[in-house]
Amino acid sequence: MDRNDELFERAQRSIPGGVNSPVRAFRSVGGSPRFMQKASGPFMWDVTGKKYIDYILSWGPMILGHGNPEVLRAVHEACDRGLTFGTATEPEILIAEEIRKLVPSIETVRLASSGTEAGMSAIRLACGFTGRSKVIKFEGCYHGHSDRLLVKAGSGMLTFGHPSSAGIPAGVTADTIVLEYNNPQQLEDTFRSCGSEIACVIVEAVGGNMNMVKGSPEFIHAIRDLCTRYGAVMIVDEVMTGFRVALGGAQSVYGVKPDLTMLGKVVGGGMPVSAFGGRRDIMNMVAPLGPVYQAGTLSGNPVAVAAGLATLRLVQAPGFYDRLTSISRRLTEGLTEAARSEGVPFCADYCGGMFGLYFLPKVPTRFSEVTRADTAAFGRWFHHMLDAGCYFAPSTYEAGFVSIAHTDKEISHTIEAAREAFAALKAGQ
Ligand SMILES: *Cc1c(COP(=O)(O)O)cnc(C)c1O
Repeated sequence: MDRNDELFERAQRSIPGGVNSPVRAFRSVGGSPRFMQKASGPFMWDVTGKKYIDYILSWGPMILGHGNPEVLRAVHEACDRGLTFGTATEPEILIAEEIRKLVPSIETVRLASSGTEAGMSAIRLACGFTGRSKVIKFEGCYHGHSDRLLVKAGSGMLTFGHPSSAGIPAGVTADTIVLEYNNPQQLEDTFRSCGSEIACVIVEAVGGNMNMVKGSPEFIHAIRDLCTRYGAVMIVDEVMTGFRVALGGAQSVYGVKPDLTMLGKVVGGGMPVSAFGGRRDIMNMVAPLGPVYQAGTLSGNPVAVAAGLATLRLVQAPGFYDRLTSISRRLTEGLTEAARSEGVPFCADYCGGMFGLYFLPKVPTRFSEVTRADTAAFGRWFHHMLDAGCYFAPSTYEAGFVSIAHTDKEISHTIEAAREAFAALKAGQ
């Protein structure tokens, strides 16, 4: 038993499953989750002192790598001024201005602390604005764990109100319609049958919670056209993709202008900041201006905002996203080539600083395809990589991330380790 195993055993006595968020557990790959003690640049160290190249990056936020000195300085200075006031502060204006500049569809923006809150508030706002109650989401898209959005569908079939978590009354999800991702025809049929009741369509334009699955341009633009035609609100959930796939987020990649956008992860630079914003006429419905209530004791927290603001300034360095994209490209091309040369069915894809690895013959376009991945092969590959000091997400349903701090050296090390891992898989180990 090493120290990770000891801590895991001890953690399970005081914390359900030993973790404070289920994706941290190793349930689908087996073994003890690693307890990390520190991180720097592209690396993390666990409690035994073992060093890992980090491809989770706290599930996306750490786009500059860990411990960026300018972000840390901003945080330390903010701490010295006070941890929280519960009043208006100037940095909140600065980060709102920065967000508006980088994501032009956002005319005004409200800060919160988690992506879950941003999603819950955005759909409440869409319902309040339209006076309608139906919400369309897509199978495999995650928008946080608020009751109305925690719904998935069966096998791509149109499903009305089928909760995917226990504890959610059926009535709460009765107005949530789950449709197949990348299926514009099904969306159009749904609008045709009940378009006047639909308050909003919420979507991850690049899906990052069913591994990585890119929306087709046709699908994303169909959402825009149908929302416009039927007076529904288009919400793009950019909690993962915002400042991650491109400076202007996924909406800039597709050239689409949503009515509302959700942000999280990178916008907080490693601290709890999220946001929702968009059309001024819609945002004017939010309290204190309008009747849609939304609030938060720690919303716009000055220490968290300091980290986010410093991060948003640094990602605007010239060539930042070109470099980030070339790191993802090198990694995914190298892994694909390593698998091919060892004869293991595998493919990979990327978008800016985000990537998907698939134990599948071809890149998936929807949730039902993602579910066909060879999870047993992935589990073995994952543990080979972990032993070799490469920390990937412990599930075939998660995307991966690179930071600007990942250099050729780390990428080469990872590809070499992967080649050995694929060879071991082929040899049945
Ligand atoms: C992470 C994530 C969320 C939820 O954010 P939390 O801060 O974990 O509540 C919502 N939507 C997407 C697309 C995400 O990736």
